[in-house]
Amino acid sequence: MSVFDSKTDGSGFHKSLIPFEEDASQRSWLMPYLIKQGRSPGRKITIIAAIHGDELNGVRILHELAAALEPIDLAGSLCLVPVANLMGYANHSRYLPDRRDLNRMFPGLKDGSEGARLAHFLWTHFIAQADVVLDLHSGSYNRWNFPHLRGNMKDEAMRAWASRIEGQVILTSSGVAGSLRKEAGKIGKPVFLIEAGETGRFEKKILQMGLTLLVRILESTETIGKEDAADLIRNYAGNTDRAPHAPGYYRKAVWQRATCAGLFMPAVSPGDRVEAGQPLGHITDLFGERRAEILSEQTGFVLGMHLHPQVVPGRALFHIAYEFKELH
Ligand SMILES: [Zn+2]
Repeated sequence: MSVFDSKTDGSGFHKSLIPFEEDASQRSWLMPYLIKQGRSPGRKITIIAAIHGDELNGVRILHELAAALEPIDLAGSLCLVPVANLMGYANHSRYLPDRRDLNRMFPGLKDGSEGARLAHFLWTHFIAQADVVLDLHSGSYNRWNFPHLRGNMKDEAMRAWASRIEGQVILTSSGVAGSLRKEAGKIGKPVFLIEAGETGRFEKKILQMGLTLLVRILESTETIGKEDAADLIRNYAGNTDRAPHAPGYYRKAVWQRATCAGLFMPAVSPGDRVEAGQPLGHITDLFGERRAEILSEQTGFVLGMHLHPQVVPGRALFHIAYEFKELH
């Protein structure tokens, strides 16, 4: 049964737990979700976080979103799934206990492996009936991502929504096989992926930017009105003191990698614009002497950065988005 069919009382979020499968001590895992039915008709939207169990920013952003939306009337219905990968979350791990990646197992299989069962459970309850899905992530492996949106801008509906999302950084991509984004996209279901910050750390500014992104998308999908969205951003999301990005999206992104081993000192940060040939940082040896300059291969926007100073040849240092295309 889809959670969208559940009857809710009152106008706020209805909070519930659904049992599925058991852990090794034969206790049921309990999947938390929150659902709010609007008074007027509209889209069914699911926002899912922590498909990677250690990416916690999305969990916190959903808690803040639920508090912010509590008194607001919605069109359609909104389902929030704060911790999709409960097992990974319990282990402080990106992965499932069998070391598989849940985000390579969609749409899942009822009688499949443990991960395939979880993917199938999530798909059946929260994804299959939704009109739009938002999937919240953070940078992994010591990576820090500037809050941005990823979605398939070849999809007309997604492009139309994206063009109404004010001032956000967007990278077009359709995801890899088995990911929620790719598999939902195959059946014509739009999924926006939101990247924000890093694992294992809450930063107020990043959470505010992530929340602003969600509010903008909900405004764009006509789930909340323009005035409510403006109020929410003013009251909850706060001023993130950054000039809005021009409306459009990046067609490509590249990882710039360490050319040698040593200690990496960055010269730019996620959120910065860079020119081709501009120094992104340098790598020193154990005497502190410079071994290599890392120069930007592209003119573009820094989406993400490697955080740990110790690097080896090939380590991904900066994720640079480029080939900007305007959206009208
Ligand atoms: Zn992730």
